[in-house]
Amino acid sequence: MRLMRILIIEDEPGIAGFLKEGLEEECFAVDVANNGREGLSMALTSDYDLLIVDWLLPGLSGVEVCRQFRKESSEIPVIFLTAKDTLDDVIFGLESGANDYIKKPFAFEELLARIRVQLRGSTSGSSLLGVDGVEMNLAAHRVTCNGKDVSLTPKEFALLEYLLRNRGSVCTRSRIIEHVWDIHFDADTSVIDVYINFLRKKLDAAGCNDLIETVRGVGYVIRGE
Ligand code: CA
Repeated sequence: MRLMRILIIEDEPGIAGFLKEGLEEECFAVDVANNGREGLSMALTSDYDLLIVDWLLPGLSGVEVCRQFRKESSEIPVIFLTAKDTLDDVIFGLESGANDYIKKPFAFEELLARIRVQLRGSTSGSSLLGVDGVEMNLAAHRVTCNGKDVSLTPKEFALLEYLLRNRGSVCTRSRIIEHVWDIHFDADTSVIDVYINFLRKKLDAAGCNDLIETVRGVGYVIRGE
């Protein structure tokens, strides 16, 4: 399955480190920001699947981070970490656009369960992706071309999923490498071209030709209906 990316915005290094380590063991890709401003800028410029935001942060409060993030992105789930637990505070947090909250101190397993609920919610409407005869069943990890099975490696699968999720928009090499490979954009991106070739060969062999279009100097796009 595709690697899910989580951003933790938390100023207490102990908690941030503990969460990062625990989530990485659960096979999430995790970044940490230790203040509100840095966190907001990372959240806005990188593709995360979920944000974990502490309520009390230096620079910009968690509530303010969430409010500003929501102006740009309405779909990415946000979970608040909060020591504040009066009802008013919880309502205020949820009204700022958070999807859920968890009170400190918390058990890691409880946070993990809440993360899984949010991530399930964010993908539930789209466990099937498809275009021009190609169908991806994300839950079953299966791809078919005009009804014929196409066997893809995990990276090829993740690459096709990313292009299909962004159907109609050009995916730049830096976005692809960040999202599919979880490497930052200064990395060598020629690996993408290699995998695009593998993917094209398999799709062509199954009768789905010319699905992935090259946008010279920029990246790749899947158009079509
Ligand atoms: Ca804090």
